[in-house]
Amino acid sequence: MDIKRYEHYDNNILEINTRVLDVKEENGSFLVLLEDSPFRASSGGQPCDKGMLIQNNRKFQVKEVVEKDNNLWHVLSERISSGPVLAVVDSEYRKRMSMLHSAEHLFFGSLKKINEDAKVIKIDLSSKPKLFISGNISNENLFKAEVLTNRIIDAGVDRIVHYRNKDNLNDLIEKGLRIRTDRIKDDVVRVIEFKDYDISACSGTHVKNSSEIKHFIIDDFKKEKGQTVVFFEVGSEAIKMRLQRSQELLKISKMLNTSTDDTERRVKSCVEKNSELKEKYYYYLTKFIEKSNPEKIGEINLYTFEFKNEESKVLTRAIKPLCKGKNSVVLILNKHENSLEVIICSNIINCKLLADEILKLGGRGGGSERLCICSLNRESKEILDIVKQKILKGI
Ligand SMILES: [Zn+2]
Repeated sequence: MDIKRYEHYDNNILEINTRVLDVKEENGSFLVLLEDSPFRASSGGQPCDKGMLIQNNRKFQVKEVVEKDNNLWHVLSERISSGPVLAVVDSEYRKRMSMLHSAEHLFFGSLKKINEDAKVIKIDLSSKPKLFISGNISNENLFKAEVLTNRIIDAGVDRIVHYRNKDNLNDLIEKGLRIRTDRIKDDVVRVIEFKDYDISACSGTHVKNSSEIKHFIIDDFKKEKGQTVVFFEVGSEAIKMRLQRSQELLKISKMLNTSTDDTERRVKSCVEKNSELKEKYYYYLTKFIEKSNPEKIGEINLYTFEFKNEESKVLTRAIKPLCKGKNSVVLILNKHENSLEVIICSNIINCKLLADEILKLGGRGGGSERLCICSLNRESKEILDIVKQKILKGI
């Protein structure tokens, strides 16, 4: 491990007067090796630094920084000469990445205290910062960890850096060191500690004190493939979001004519009521559909229903029993503001072929032989005529 390189990160060294040692051309780009560098390559979900190399007042943007065989290669679009150069890291970008990455240490450390089985699977700090965590994690525990993270930020906890031989980690392991031994290539391990909150083997860049993060907010979270994905934000942006969320809550509470404390209970009750009403509506819709009379076209019973702005999911569910009829074709014409939704369901005719005929008039849609949904800008009568004609011709 090149400890000097990491000490630049620890001491926030962002500019170094150095020399170009080697330049390699690769796929139209120029890979530059420097004698010394403040730059960091991407790893562990933290993107590489941005910045530039300055030589004789000429600025070369660093497009990427890659680590190969323990060397850092700075990728440029143009060729640079060997000799003296000033290497400058973009301080604002580095600061943001360090804040996000440090916040992720504190948040995960906090979550781990509450949810022992939580494990970091992946981190992505690129466009929308997010953390992928495995384990059985409840929403409540995510909120608790968010509170604890902000307590640590407010307490102003110093970051401590340890450089240790990998055989000498026992005292840190006792403190709860997070380490993926399979990923440790060198004899020396860099360990980042926020005392009492998180201790982890890490090659990233960090804030010196937790207070630099200012604030941490869970922007959103979702469960997918057995993992919890937590989207988060830090700093002034997080404070801004917190303020917006608080005002949104206040607006909702005013809409419901209640206090902010009572809003959650009231919204829950509205959601329950809504789903009860939907069920009732579905029940009466089914009854209405069952009692309707078909139009006889030869051997076929054609059931036609006209609706306005109805959810197609509810309609397809409600017509299912009718479609099972031996000679039935069910046609729904559901009018929306700028389009007509056509649902065809049948066990006797090929709905897909019928939909293809209708789509000759424009629009889009598709489905299977038994159920098709199209959407087009036409009158109900035109569609009804096509359906009747095609049934007569025995499609
Ligand atoms: Zn770290």
